Amino acid sequence: MATLDKKQIVILGAGISGHTAARYLLRGRPKTRTPYEVVVISPNEAWNWIPSNIWVGVGQMTKEQVTFDLATLYARVGIPFHRARAVSIHPEGDADHATPFVTVEYTGGAKVGQTAKVPYDYLINATGPKLNFGATEGLGPDHGHTVSVCTADHAIEANHKLQATIDAMRRGEAKTIVIGTGHGTCTCQGAAFEYIYNVDHVLREAGVRDRARMVWISNEYELGDFGMGGVHIERGGYITNGKVFAESLMVERDIEWITRAAVNKVEAGKLHYEQLDGTRGELDFDFAMLIPPFSGVGLKAFDKAGEDITAKIFAPSGFMKVDGDYTPRPYAEWSAKDWPSTYQNPTYGNLFAVGIAFAPPHLISKPMTSVNGTPINPAPPRTGMPSAAMAIAVAESIRDMLDGAPAPTRTASMAKMGAACVASTGRNFFTGSAATMTVFPVVPDYEKYPEYGRDLSLTFGEIGLAGHWMKAMLHYTFIYQAKMKLGWSLLPD
Ligand SMILES: Cc1cc2nc3c(=O)[nH]c(=O)nc-3n(C[C@H](O)[C@H](O)[C@H](O)COP(=O)(O)OP(=O)(O)OC[C@H]3O[C@@H](n4cnc5c(N)ncnc54)[C@H](O)[C@@H]3O)c2cc1C
Repeated sequence: MATLDKKQIVILGAGISGHTAARYLLRGRPKTRTPYEVVVISPNEAWNWIPSNIWVGVGQMTKEQVTFDLATLYARVGIPFHRARAVSIHPEGDADHATPFVTVEYTGGAKVGQTAKVPYDYLINATGPKLNFGATEGLGPDHGHTVSVCTADHAIEANHKLQATIDAMRRGEAKTIVIGTGHGTCTCQGAAFEYIYNVDHVLREAGVRDRARMVWISNEYELGDFGMGGVHIERGGYITNGKVFAESLMVERDIEWITRAAVNKVEAGKLHYEQLDGTRGELDFDFAMLIPPFSGVGLKAFDKAGEDITAKIFAPSGFMKVDGDYTPRPYAEWSAKDWPSTYQNPTYGNLFAVGIAFAPPHLISKPMTSVNGTPINPAPPRTGMPSAAMAIAVAESIRDMLDGAPAPTRTASMAKMGAACVASTGRNFFTGSAATMTVFPVVPDYEKYPEYGRDLSLTFGEIGLAGHWMKAMLHYTFIYQAKMKLGWSLLPD
């Protein structure tokens, strides 16, 4: 293992949060007194603007439009890039190495298959989710019977199957299309929500919508929950329940829905589910896109003596423990203050986790189990805007700590930040639309906002063509920014 001549900040994962942290660390380098190197370790050669995968999944964008090559970019801007998967963290070093390091396994390039130890002074875990298709028998594109839009390649395959379904409808066949969540504890309902409307839109454009039965299935107690415990929004001067907003979108487009449901098995053309009241149901389908549950990516951790300390660093879900309050307590007793703000690991001060990689302290939507004991409740939302905000806060804290600050200097609590979500409901410059929703804060704070948990002057929703233009603009802006083209740092994250 090489010795370091300057401080080394290692980032695990080059997704939305990891790449944002890398950009901000690079940008802040000239302003920091202590020289440092930014090193990125990530298994994929491509950066993916995941929110636009839904358009790849309906054939309205190509993979090339939503991805770009990371190695080329990092070579241009001077970031050492290991195309590798992190396997274990050694925050105290080991018997042979005094400094902390990460063990990695190369997934591409000349070193593919080899392992290495990468030393660090500060480590940012931005490894995102493991797409845990294995949690439901028969779920997913690799070993199951459903498609996914969680990666660009998944979305390409989803589109192939969708186009085959559309072709069959053009020949006069009737088809059932099911979209939603593939397990009782999923998050990311928003992605499935966008996808169902985009599928509806392309079916209408193809002139075959009347031959499709479309069904939404999800683990939400009611439509519009999104893992945020639902939301009240200001719309047209009135306060509306998010349930009414989401249901009216479904009714307008003739989409049926099944909520409070845990999909527990998928066979070719048939899924099985259980609902909170114990009802068990079956649904035949011709095309199904179901989001998998998320877990941590399976990183292990070891102390200096080689003892396994994974359970000390990571929650049982595999996500990393940070400065949240993880004390087990009844749902009614949690508070917005439990949510982390600095994303620093409580055991090792030079270890941080951002984006989906940090462990949420508790559910936001009420935990529920069916009469048969099956948990059926959405996990907290893990969206891009908060992921980027926490990455920027951590990047700036680490720079300050390198220059002598004894503790993180920046915060980005999801209980103190808002988030905007522009959910595409059809991509077309003239006939497209998107539901635009802002919430403040993401995690409701009932002490500060006793009635609804959120500031309703900053929590609103609208749907229309302008939303589509905004969504398209965000696509091009974020990719321009991620490519670190001229003036990127002037654009808002
Ligand atoms: C279809 C879809 C649509 C979405 N739409 C929206 C939207 O419209 N708006 C929004 O705000 N959010 C949206 N989201 C959520 C958004 O994509 C996530 O919030 C965001 O990607 C999280 O960022 P992240 O950096 O934590 O994880 P990711 O972006 O998933 O990045 C994780 C990175 O870690 C890498 N990695 C994995 N394992 C390892 C390892 N062992 N070692 C090193 N690296 C590793 C991965 O390859 C990847 O590069 C959507 C999600 C999906 C699936």
